[in-house]
Amino acid sequence: MSSSPRRPLPPVEQVRPGLWSIPVPIPNNPLRYVLVYALDTDRGPYLIDAGWNTDESYDSLRTGLERMGTTTRAVQGVLVSHIHPDHFGLAGRIQQESGAWVGMHPADIELIQGRYVEPGPLLRAVWDTLQMAGAPPDEMEALQQASMPVLPLVGATDPDVVMEDGFLPDVPGWDLRAIWTPGHTPGHLCFYDERNHLLFSGDHVLPRITPNVSLLDEDDIDPLGDFLQSLRKVGSYEAEEVLPAHEHRFVGLRERADELVSHHEDRFAQVERIVADGSCTAWQVAAHMEWSRPWERISGFMRRMALFEALAHLRALEVRGRLVVTDQNPRRWGPTT
Ligand SMILES: [Zn+2]
Ligand SMILES: [Zn+2]
Repeated sequence: MSSSPRRPLPPVEQVRPGLWSIPVPIPNNPLRYVLVYALDTDRGPYLIDAGWNTDESYDSLRTGLERMGTTTRAVQGVLVSHIHPDHFGLAGRIQQESGAWVGMHPADIELIQGRYVEPGPLLRAVWDTLQMAGAPPDEMEALQQASMPVLPLVGATDPDVVMEDGFLPDVPGWDLRAIWTPGHTPGHLCFYDERNHLLFSGDHVLPRITPNVSLLDEDDIDPLGDFLQSLRKVGSYEAEEVLPAHEHRFVGLRERADELVSHHEDRFAQVERIVADGSCTAWQVAAHMEWSRPWERISGFMRRMALFEALAHLRALEVRGRLVVTDQNPRRWGPTT
């Protein structure tokens, strides 16, 4: 069921002393908002994620910071969980206005140029992947171009702080640690607050929906395998509460991580059933997998994401030796004999 865009956003809330949750709208998107977390310090506020680069989003962030008693100009640092526009989009504008540092994992920093500045090679990679996946010729171009509308929603900037696994961001009075959780993107980061035992989970662990995990080209070896391993990694933290970037805060990190792992085990079984009687292209597999709506009604960017997600499952099954590649151009997978 799609939610009405007019539904009010959750309130700006103080979550813990000095820690605020600020919903920032994502226009025309069923996710509706990204939760930006603002950490108060003697030096000024630090943000975990920033929101899309639109005036409406910027105004919500500004109003939220004012509720905290501070301003966008006082921001000292932006810790970006990953490269997607709803998280990274406003970081450049905040940086310009305040001189704040922007931090990101190197594997996502590497993608900025190709995603937001010079997308030519990426578009070619998407085209090749669509062909490999067996997309019908008359849908190729629309699917290839489907991500272009988000470009203006990102004020691309070069992050000046490189946050590797275990990195301790300089946020005075807070004991934060970056946890590298590749899968949803190659450089996705969660942040663990050692003092309050809180996990800022970005898009890696959400309370109700499962994040998209895509195979986009041959360089992504096994993103879904990485994602499952990253779930086991964060599942070992004794978090008192999880603060995700969408939906709502929740308790029960380990249970939710386990649930997501078993969700993908079910998906693996589904894919294996689909290819059981012969070999299939990724397109055929995607058309027979269960989605939140029938395949015929999934269009545009959502359709491309579903296809690339089917590919990620096929690749993971191939890596595990449960499926084999039987043909190329387009690629087909069949059961291991
Ligand atoms: Zn994301
Ligand atoms: Zn997101």
